[in-house]
Amino acid sequence: MRPEALFPLFAPVHSLPGIGPRLEKLVEKLAGPKVVDLLWHLPSGLVDRRSHPKIAEVRDGEIATMEVTIGLHVPPRTKRLPYRVHVSDDTGEMQIVFFNARADYLNKVLPEGSRRILSGRVEFYQGAPQMSHPDYMLDVSEVGQMPLLEPLYPLTTGLPQKAVQKAVRSALLNLPELPEWQDTHWLKARGWVRWHQSLVSAHEPQATADLDPDAPARARLAYDELLANQLALGLVRLRMRRLPGRTVSGDGHLRRKVEDALPFALTGAQLRALAEIDSDMKSTHRMLRLLQGDVGSGKTVVALLAMLSAVEAGFQAAMMAPTEILARQHYAGLKPLCDTAGVRLALLTGRDKGKQREETLAATAAGEIDIIVGTHALFQEEVAFRALALAVVDEQHRFGVHQRLMLASKGGIGTDVLVMTATPIPRTLTLTAYGDMDVSKLDEKPPGRLPVDTRALPLDRLEEVLAGLPRALARGAQIYWVCPLVEESDDVDAAAAEERHKHLLSIFGGIVGLVHGRMKVSDKDEVMKRFEVGDIKILVATTVIEVGVNVPSATIMVIEHAERFGLAQLHQLRGRVGRGSGKSSCLLLYQTPLGETAEARIKIMRETEDGFRIAEEDLRLRGAGELLGTRQSGLPAFRIADIETQKDLLAAAYDDARMILERDPELESERGKALRVLLYLFERDEAIRYLRSG
Ligand code: ADP
Ligand code: MG
Repeated sequence: MRPEALFPLFAPVHSLPGIGPRLEKLVEKLAGPKVVDLLWHLPSGLVDRRSHPKIAEVRDGEIATMEVTIGLHVPPRTKRLPYRVHVSDDTGEMQIVFFNARADYLNKVLPEGSRRILSGRVEFYQGAPQMSHPDYMLDVSEVGQMPLLEPLYPLTTGLPQKAVQKAVRSALLNLPELPEWQDTHWLKARGWVRWHQSLVSAHEPQATADLDPDAPARARLAYDELLANQLALGLVRLRMRRLPGRTVSGDGHLRRKVEDALPFALTGAQLRALAEIDSDMKSTHRMLRLLQGDVGSGKTVVALLAMLSAVEAGFQAAMMAPTEILARQHYAGLKPLCDTAGVRLALLTGRDKGKQREETLAATAAGEIDIIVGTHALFQEEVAFRALALAVVDEQHRFGVHQRLMLASKGGIGTDVLVMTATPIPRTLTLTAYGDMDVSKLDEKPPGRLPVDTRALPLDRLEEVLAGLPRALARGAQIYWVCPLVEESDDVDAAAAEERHKHLLSIFGGIVGLVHGRMKVSDKDEVMKRFEVGDIKILVATTVIEVGVNVPSATIMVIEHAERFGLAQLHQLRGRVGRGSGKSSCLLLYQTPLGETAEARIKIMRETEDGFRIAEEDLRLRGAGELLGTRQSGLPAFRIADIETQKDLLAAAYDDARMILERDPELESERGKALRVLLYLFERDEAIRYLRSG
């Protein structure tokens, strides 16, 4: 249970003054639904009103606070012209400018002849200084109401800066005193102060240097966040390692049959990965291994061969995919190979209902199924195994750590876990998402693959692209046509895809198909099947096809509004072609004008197909939080820490977490208890459940 001291931080944002139902929605969109979310939303700028020049001294562009005498009001002759107010001091004159002004209001706040304090940005117009729409217009006696330093927050449309400032100020007034979870020597060595004070300082920058991620207050908060992450991973890991492993060693008889049936020889990288997996499975430790391999590097076969050794040794294996389509495709791909070897394979997805589902469940529990492939339906309570020795989790970035564990705990005794990632994850991220899982890399593509010819074209040349398709179709090409990711919403994406589908249908007729996330699974399957057998030649799709879909005869990938996709996504999508022996191409259609980042992404896509390089570039361009899309990624999105520039802090947090857990694995010491608060603060509650007294 969350400690009571944290309750105010976890209250909804509407509990803050000035945040009503309308603004609440906007704050939620910007930062999150809770007070603490808003507190992690740190300022990105600063207004400094401490400069108070005379009119003769004022500089172009500066924020100035000036004491002046109000002179003549000059209302505009037409509505489009500004309302002007002349002001002066003993050094000169200037004008204050208002657009769409209400004269009665201005006469009230700036009566002629009065002394006023005005604060705002001064700009020179035809050589003369003027201030338009001052931020503050106060009577000299009210000057105390004006903050001299104001933090500026990143905003979202419709959310006023002042509302955010006010809400944060009030949240800061009610900060609880929390026990110190950091080592005091470490704090001293870094020149950091306590949490409470750090948070206040981070929101009340005194100079632009305070906005730097390495400024002491921010660095401390970032370190808190990283430590919470590493500690949570450490706890999960401890818990997983606590279960003893078992020795699983096949005699190779099934493997040989399958290898003989494969139309290709394994690559050196596949053989190396397999040897590493074999040795893990044979050992008495339980395996926690990450199989990293770029799209098309052939992870599935490695997983199958690993699962076969479990079956040879008399155990069961399970493979979990993130979507129905993928689970079905794995099943369809593995089926003939399993049949060859006499291995009993079953499929279980959320769609299976009634009798068939009962039968699959019963057969799995009785051990009449050797390998089961499925979606997250596999880790529902009712799914029981007779002896699950190996759990393979494919395309895992859609799953969280907890889900992976759920499947692994099905084995009772320590089930070996092989996590496959299709997105090459940069080293730093591996550390944050997996801690110290062992890693096997497939860093070699199957031979005979031709590079994918990647081109970029502005969208206004769509007609040319369409005009070129009949020739490609005549050559027998099959085409993916991916529609823009408008928002992270299936509905909106689907609408765009539906429209393009209609359009292409009107040109090319019945050879055009459509898949998107909102369709019924059975309809999706049907369309995918028709694409696989070549009934459908042009498949219009949303990013449902992003991960794992494998139709080797498809050789053209068109991505509409490529500028809206992240690099990792573009790379994943392009990875859907170039899988067979035919020459493939990828067309990136983009909307002009192209932003700087989008242009850089497209350039990188044209330069390289190396997934690891692309992932590094992606991290550089976007920052880790966004790397794989947002929440659904299963990778932690850091609120404060920037692991690209704060690698040293991450490394320190990693060491720190190990040391803490070595000394105090149940977090029972004084500091341990404080660290529990830290875990709650950063919503790593999941990890606390792994403590004995959690
Ligand atoms: P991914 O790593 O993206 O999951 P897959 O396992 O789907 O890749 O493999 C991509 C394609 O490459 C499949 O069609 C698979 O049959 C084929 N493949 C796998 N290993 C080899 C190999 N050693 N030689 C040739 N083709 C291979
Ligand atoms: Mg795959």
